[in-house]
Amino acid sequence: MTLPPWLAPSWRMLADAIGSGRIHHALLFASPRGYGKRALAEAFATALLCQQRNADGSACGRCRSCLLVAAGSHPDLARVTFEIRDDGRPRTELTVDQLRALGQRLALSSQFGGWQVALIDPADAMNPNAANALLKTLEEPSTNTVIVLVADDPSRLPPTIRSRCQKIDVPMPTREEALAWLRARGVDAAVAAATLDASMNNPGQAEAWLADGALAVREECATDLSALSASRARAAAVAERWAADRPDLRLWFAAALARDEARSLAEGRRGALGLTQRTEIPKLNAWFGRANQARGLLATPVRADLVLLDLLRGWPARPTS
Ligand SMILES: [Zn+2]
Repeated sequence: MTLPPWLAPSWRMLADAIGSGRIHHALLFASPRGYGKRALAEAFATALLCQQRNADGSACGRCRSCLLVAAGSHPDLARVTFEIRDDGRPRTELTVDQLRALGQRLALSSQFGGWQVALIDPADAMNPNAANALLKTLEEPSTNTVIVLVADDPSRLPPTIRSRCQKIDVPMPTREEALAWLRARGVDAAVAAATLDASMNNPGQAEAWLADGALAVREECATDLSALSASRARAAAVAERWAADRPDLRLWFAAALARDEARSLAEGRRGALGLTQRTEIPKLNAWFGRANQARGLLATPVRADLVLLDLLRGWPARPTS
């Protein structure tokens, strides 16, 4: 097991709990996606089940339990995640039937005589009935069971569930740690720095973007916004293009670009998108907020091109001289 270095304090806390056997019956691993909480939760679950742990408390990787976990067939590890629907696509929520089945399973005793572990991921995708079913299980914990909830957005979990979980701290890495982590994965130093800038220092996000060419999309967004500033592009045309290809990602980048532009102007520099007036700063800050709201709207049935058009029409134009 190799966890990123910024998770070392979190791991030590978990390893101490495993070593002492005093483990809260429900743990919530919550952080923005990309900080390594899933690797941490997996390491914890595997170590709990391992029959001959390493000195640092981590799983050995060789015992019968570890091999069964790796094969996905450990009888005392229950994973609850998106089911595949009849049409072959994954569901977008965890259902009450899944959580009821989990409760019944955890009420039985462990097959190997040790811990029974449940991994619910993404726990923040439980629908209300599913969350109620889990709540019943949390209210009547069986001995030697540990329920691990993994959530990118814990605010979507009912407070009644959150209050019954021990929250595991998953810290954001420092800039140096995130850079070193990307460099160790073979990423060029300049590319690593630029991608971390774009991802607000989120190493997992940066790695995913490097894998799928997202930085080119960011460049396109910058070019488009710059053209809008100079009235060289029409908002309708840009909106149509953005709606057709990864609109959510484009809005994420556009919001970050607006924030960076405002920052440059506040520091008395010309912005990368061509804006020059300090009077644009409040407009850019407001636009940042609107871009994030628009991202939320993309998840609703509202037409993406109309959401984008409304937003892009409000992009500050450079005064013509
Ligand atoms: Zn093992």
